[in-house]
Amino acid sequence: MNNPFLDRAAPQIAGLTPYVPGKPVTELERELGITDSVKLASNENPLGCGDAARAAYLAEAEELGRYPDGGGFALRAAIAAHHGLAAEQVTLGNGSNDVLDQIARVFLYPGGESIFSEHAFAVYQIATTAVGATPRVAPARDYGHDLEAMAALVSERTGVVWIANPNNPTGTWIAAEPLRDFLSALPEHCIAVVDEAYFEYVEESEYPDTSTWLEHFPNLIVTRTFAKIHGLAALRVGYGLSHPAVAELLNRVRHPFNVNAPAQAAAVAALADREHVRRSLAHNRAELARVRDGLRALGLALIPASVGNFVTVDLGRLAGPINQALLGEGVICRPVANYGLPHHLRISIGLASENDRLLAALAAVLKRTA
Ligand SMILES: *Cc1c(COP(=O)(O)O)cnc(C)c1O
Repeated sequence: MNNPFLDRAAPQIAGLTPYVPGKPVTELERELGITDSVKLASNENPLGCGDAARAAYLAEAEELGRYPDGGGFALRAAIAAHHGLAAEQVTLGNGSNDVLDQIARVFLYPGGESIFSEHAFAVYQIATTAVGATPRVAPARDYGHDLEAMAALVSERTGVVWIANPNNPTGTWIAAEPLRDFLSALPEHCIAVVDEAYFEYVEESEYPDTSTWLEHFPNLIVTRTFAKIHGLAALRVGYGLSHPAVAELLNRVRHPFNVNAPAQAAAVAALADREHVRRSLAHNRAELARVRDGLRALGLALIPASVGNFVTVDLGRLAGPINQALLGEGVICRPVANYGLPHHLRISIGLASENDRLLAALAAVLKRTA
């Protein structure tokens, strides 16, 4: 786009394009004139949130005239207790994306660099570029993070290394031992961010809980979110866990009142509702297996050894036209060409009926376009 205001913007803004979210259901339904579309495009929990979180949210409706607790006392205390950490180690975000942005604004600036992997979550590039720092992208290995290639990019200019574990959109994950070795070798002037947005979905025994590593790595920041398994994507709540001194810096740039009051209340309730997490995990485990089988039965290859509440499937040809045809069937998935994966489509695990719709629509589309 030829934007007449671009030359007045900070120079790095020219290098940015807006994050592309999943297409909203309302938009597709308006376009197609239908009312039964299914959205499998944003890795949301198809069960939504638990009853306790919803009740806590609704109770806040009586107090909408009041500012929230800007320090997030109750939520930070609940998160700290959940992890066995101190409240001073918790930084709240308007979604964990907000925490990623806080990290970039504190530790990156023009002349500094951040390191991430090819195919990694798009926000690392956006947050880095937005503050005028330079992204250094390590080539992926088998779609996943190549920690050796990432380590080779470390220099005195490195401010932040972003690690998505597991990664979105590839679902690839890093085991405890190589990740610990990588962090041990990282110079202390580099902040290491381990983004664990899908933590609760991962059942592999070698998958690490890096929130337990903070005492060994003062330069480590772990991020988590309430948007995925807790089913509170609409409310925008996430958090960072770190050394208290790192949290203190993040809090210097955190917008006041960045997490609204109903969101804080719902998140406290969600964290305590282990039954909803268990139910959501069991649903995902069963339906993920079924969707994977269904996709393989269509002759499609999946990214190997992936985890999470989504699958990324290799269509063996450009995914754009297939995605368009699926939209015509009322099924919204996520093309990932902007992640360097033009032949792949990312599909979130939905309700059983939604997954059936996806598999039937994809079978029909593939047949039609064969
Ligand atoms: C979904 C996701 C997040 C969470 O973002 P929120 O801002 O908390 O909604 C963070 N990182 C990755 C890799 C994700 O896929």
